[in-house]
Amino acid sequence: MEYEIVMGLETHVELSTNTKIFCGCTTEFGGEPNTHCCPICIGLPGTMPKLNYQVVRYAVMAGLSLNCEIAKVAKMDRKNYVYPDLPKAYQISEYDKPLCEHGYIELSNGRKIGITRIHIEEDAGKLIHERGQTFIDYNRGGVPLIEIVSEPDFRSVDEVTEYLEYLQLTMRYIGVSDCKMQEGSMRCDVNVSVRPVGSDKFGTRTELKNMNSFTNIAKAVKYEVQRQIDVIESGEKVVQETRRFNDASGTTESMRGKEDAHDYRYFREPDLVTISVSDDEIEKIRKLIPELPNKKISKYIELYGLSEVDAKLLVKYKRVADFFEKSIDGVKVYKNCSNFIISLIFSRFETEDQKEQFNINVTPEDMNELLKLLEAGTIRNNVAKKTLGEMLDTGKKVKDILSEDDLKGLSQEELTGICNKAVESNPKAVADYLGGKDKAVKSMLGFVMKNTQGKADAQLAEKIIIDIIKNK
Ligand code: ADP
Ligand code: MG
Ligand code: ZN
Repeated sequence: MEYEIVMGLETHVELSTNTKIFCGCTTEFGGEPNTHCCPICIGLPGTMPKLNYQVVRYAVMAGLSLNCEIAKVAKMDRKNYVYPDLPKAYQISEYDKPLCEHGYIELSNGRKIGITRIHIEEDAGKLIHERGQTFIDYNRGGVPLIEIVSEPDFRSVDEVTEYLEYLQLTMRYIGVSDCKMQEGSMRCDVNVSVRPVGSDKFGTRTELKNMNSFTNIAKAVKYEVQRQIDVIESGEKVVQETRRFNDASGTTESMRGKEDAHDYRYFREPDLVTISVSDDEIEKIRKLIPELPNKKISKYIELYGLSEVDAKLLVKYKRVADFFEKSIDGVKVYKNCSNFIISLIFSRFETEDQKEQFNINVTPEDMNELLKLLEAGTIRNNVAKKTLGEMLDTGKKVKDILSEDDLKGLSQEELTGICNKAVESNPKAVADYLGGKDKAVKSMLGFVMKNTQGKADAQLAEKIIIDIIKNK
C-alpha cells in the first residue's frame, strides 16, 4: 500500500529580550551556571511574577508577520508537571486563550500551512548529565519563549524545511529572535503520522521531541515514517507517544506515553493580570515590522530584475539585503551590485555566521559610488572588480584607489581617435575584414584595449572600428 506522511510542528522560539519574562534577570546565553537567576525565576515561594511587556510586543510582531489574528483578551495559565528543570513544578504558559491564532504561511509550491496558535511561555532550566550525576542550570529558566503551533498540514520533509527556514528568516528580520538551532533558541517538536494515500482520516501520531537541526529532522522523520508503516503493515497499531531521535543510531526511541491536556491540570495563573492588547497598540506594533523576506524576494525579482536564486541569496541575510538596498540608491543596473555581493564579497566568508554578520570594510555609500562609475562607463567591469577587491582588503575609498586618469574615463572622441589609429596601423586586418573575414576586427580591437589600458567598452569599440572601415 502507498502511504502519505502527515506532520504538524510545534516550534519554540526564544525571544531576544534583554530580561526574562517575569523578572529582571538577563537572558544572555551561557554564563556560569545559576548566575542569571533570582528568587522569582527559580520560583521561591512568596515571589510575584510580573509580565515583561516586550514579550507581548514581540509575540504580537511574530503573530502579525505570520498572518495571525491577535486576541483581544489573553491570559496565562499554570501547566503543572514535576521535573527538576522546573523548580516551581509548573510552567507559566497560555492554555485556552493564546495571544495569536489562525495564521498561515504560504509555501513556494502554493500550499498553505496553517498556524493554529502562537502563545507565550517561560523556558525551563537545563539538566546537565555528567560523571554519572545530574546537575541543574537554571540560567535558562524564565527566558521568554513563543510556541508556534502549526496545523497538521505538512506532507513532506521538504515542506517542513522550507517552513522552518521561513520562520527562522522572518523572526530574524523582525528582530524578535536569532533562531539559532545549535544554541537552542529555536527548537522543534515534529508530530508525525502516516495514512493510506486517498484516506481523509489522520493516522495516530507520534511526537519527535526537541529536534535541533534540519539534518536530524530529515533523518528522524524518514526513520519514523518507515517504522510506522512497518507497524501498520504487520497488523499492529501505532501507539501515540513521545519519541526521541538517537543521533548515533539514526533511530527514534520511545520516551514516554503522550500526555493529554488534563494530565497537566492547567489552571489560570492567579498572580498575573489579563493581557489585553488594544487595536491602537496593535497598529503601533504593526508599524515596527519591516518589509518581510518573501515580499523582498518578489520585489528583487520583479522590480530589480534579479534571478530567483540571486534574490534569495541576498534576502537570506538581513544585513546583506539592507546593504544591497542602500548601495543601489540612484543606480539603474541592479545586477552589478548583486553580482559583486554574491561573487566577490560572499566568497570571502567561510561560514553562514559570517554572512549573517556581513562585517566588511566597504560602506553602501562606497559601493554606490563604484556602481555609478561602472554604470556611466567611466570604469570597466574588470577595473571595478579590482577596485572593490582592494577596498575590501584595505578599507580604502574608491577615490584613494582609482587615479585621476581612471576617473576621467574615456570620452567618445578619445575612443574614436584610438580606433582610427587601430584601423590605420592594421592595413592587413582591414583588407581581411573587407575580404569577408569578420574575425579580423579582433586584432584591431586588441590594439584599442592595449592603448586604453582596458578602459574601452569592447562592444562600442568594435562598432566604431567597423563604421570607420565601412566609411573609408
Ligand atoms: P499537544 O502536542 O500539546 O497535545 P496538539 O494535540 O494540539 O498539542 O497537537 C500538536 C501538534 O500535532 C500540532 O502541530 C498538530 O498539527 C499536530 N498533529 C495533530 N494531529 C496530528 C496527526 N494525526 N498527525 C500529525 N500531526 C498531528
Ligand atoms: Mg506537543
Ligand atoms: Zn530572575
